[in-house]
Amino acid sequence: MFNKRTKIKELLSIEPDGREVTVMGWVRSFRNNQFIAVNDGSTHQNLQVVVSLGLLNDETLKRITAGASLKVTGEMVASLGKGQKVELKANTVEILGDCDPEKYPLQLKNRPTLEYLRENAHLRFRTNTFGAVFRVRHSIAYAIHKFFNDKGFVYIHTPIISASDAEGAGEMFRVTTLPFDKTPRNDDGSVNFKEDFFGKSTNLTVSGQLEAELGATAFSDVYTFGPTFRAENSNTTRHLAEFWMIEPEMAFYDIEDNMDLAEEFIKYIIQYAIDHNREDLELLAQRLIEEEKQLPQDKRSELGLIEKLEFVLNNSFERITYTEAIDILLNSNHYKKKKFQYEVKWGIDLQSEHERYLVEKHFKKPVIVTGYPAAIKAFYMRMNEDGKTVAAMDILAPGIGEIVGGSQREERYNKLIERMAAMHVPVEEMQWYLDIRRFGSVPHSGFGLGFERMVQFVTGMTNIRDVIPFARTPKNCEF
Ligand code: ATP
Ligand code: MN
Repeated sequence: MFNKRTKIKELLSIEPDGREVTVMGWVRSFRNNQFIAVNDGSTHQNLQVVVSLGLLNDETLKRITAGASLKVTGEMVASLGKGQKVELKANTVEILGDCDPEKYPLQLKNRPTLEYLRENAHLRFRTNTFGAVFRVRHSIAYAIHKFFNDKGFVYIHTPIISASDAEGAGEMFRVTTLPFDKTPRNDDGSVNFKEDFFGKSTNLTVSGQLEAELGATAFSDVYTFGPTFRAENSNTTRHLAEFWMIEPEMAFYDIEDNMDLAEEFIKYIIQYAIDHNREDLELLAQRLIEEEKQLPQDKRSELGLIEKLEFVLNNSFERITYTEAIDILLNSNHYKKKKFQYEVKWGIDLQSEHERYLVEKHFKKPVIVTGYPAAIKAFYMRMNEDGKTVAAMDILAPGIGEIVGGSQREERYNKLIERMAAMHVPVEEMQWYLDIRRFGSVPHSGFGLGFERMVQFVTGMTNIRDVIPFARTPKNCEF
């Protein structure tokens, strides 16, 4: 058996009692031909391995370079050096894989930039920053399943290939096996999708919501957690072409119940990360301070990363209506000084600058906006009594903008049909969806949380490309 070793995270917490252990990992640094900092990814901390003089010959010593992989067996002893309680006094050192320091992209004199690491995303897991980000990402994913499991939700795997183009959540990626050159055509010149793999036009899903609704009207409470795809050509720090979304859907929930759950959910995730990823968050908090040093004072975060998270935990989210939001914007000095780029008036879709003003300048905490104009929201959202707004709710987070989009769904068959017609949704193709309004329809609600935006919020990473292992964005599909 080869994998007889102890992970560094565990070793760092044991007593230096001389016990013999084996460690495997990658060299972070090698000082004075004596001290090897080894990392195995279980924590951002390295284990100091001490090589006594004469243990290794010169040729072996030369091969201990940053990035090389090692197997070390030795004794856990108290460390004399600063910075660690224990260290490993090596008895044997075996080099598992060499790493040419001339060619190793992470062997740099200066600290590599995030941009450089993005171009070397295949190796960036090995850095402290990305080690921390992806351990937190993992932890949050686990917390999400735990949150719903503990509440009795059923995890539904909604399809990734979808034939419904009714959702309207964004531009879609087409899925096809038709040839580009000899595309089969109908008499009128349009593409004959009957010849395509599924016998109809198909695409990658933009949301699992419609299918989740089917689940909710049987299991009561369900959620999806999977990849979604949007071919939106927006090169921002918060849009990806491939991102992960969590979409809970609950029967017998009205919009208030929906908001309560979403707020509880977000706080649970944050609390989980604070409880289980303290060290990683501290490292990321420090990183954020370093990053913001380049900014003028007034552009820096008022609170440190962990203080920000604690602030969110300890305060309830502000809840306002869309109409109130518009009034706040119109009455702001920002507006009077013509500092908004986009127009502000009732009926507009809130732009990122508006969302950020509300959260970062006005309320200084997460805000839930409800009651959006029907015309700018999807067909399935429940019409309010006023006949012009719908029971939508978006959650806006400081530094991110929209993190959750949700609504109470229109459960009244006739109203839904009316809205579908008004919004040119193909009713014929949506009979399966309408069936749950025909057969025991119930009030129900749900929302979608963008997983990467949540990871951004918790880790303080500014660019969404830095919280997903391999980002897919316009003109970029590496690795
Ligand atoms: P935005 O206005 O920011 O583009 P949206 O209104 O298109 O968002 P929804 O369709 O409501 O968003 O999707 C639900 C959630 O999914 C959003 O609140 C956000 O957290 C996340 N999300 C949406 N689009 C993207 C994207 N392209 N990349 C990453 N996350 C996204
Ligand atoms: Mn969008």
